[in-house]
Amino acid sequence: MKIGVLSFQGGVVEHLNQIKQLGYEGIEVKKENDLNDIDAIILPGGESTTIGKLLNITQLMKPLREKIKAGLPTWGTCAGMILLAKEIEDEKTNYLATMDIKVKRNAFGTQIDSFKMNKIIEEASNKEIELVFIRAPYITEVKNNVEILCEVNNNIIAVKQDNMIATSFHPELTDDLTFLRYFLDNVVEKNMNGVFRS
Ligand code: GLN
Repeated sequence: MKIGVLSFQGGVVEHLNQIKQLGYEGIEVKKENDLNDIDAIILPGGESTTIGKLLNITQLMKPLREKIKAGLPTWGTCAGMILLAKEIEDEKTNYLATMDIKVKRNAFGTQIDSFKMNKIIEEASNKEIELVFIRAPYITEVKNNVEILCEVNNNIIAVKQDNMIATSFHPELTDDLTFLRYFLDNVVEKNMNGVFRS
């Protein structure tokens, strides 16, 4: 099975390494053709405005959006979460806009307010996972079809909607493969079994 990583900017190499560690093939996605070759995609952290611009410049925005809408298993981490959101607080822009969530950018503060914590996300595991937040967004609103997976100080930081997962934190910057395994087992494998195919 081939797992794509949107490879313009941000935590690309880290995601590719973790995919390899779990025995899957990681594919760099930079152009429309790369979409033909993948069974899932990870949208990494970085700067959502920059990644959004590059999605437009490379003309990947539309075909990627269509693929996700058609059921491609997708996980957005941090900036990736912002790309997936239909609404962004205080901004008129949106990007892929496939998830029924509203996000607040840099919601935990600036770079110096970046932090780590350990927390159990029951859907993924009964053990604590290390969560790393870097100028992270959180979710301020969700529609009924969105399942909340985790909150920190009453702020939503992990959600699932059909074939899509979004997290404020960066598992790829830790040694913990739990959340990637959760994505592969619960979203990607389910798609293989036809659950999300439209
Ligand atoms: N603050 C960034 C943004 O708004 C996201 C940060 C990250 O991905 N670590 O796009």
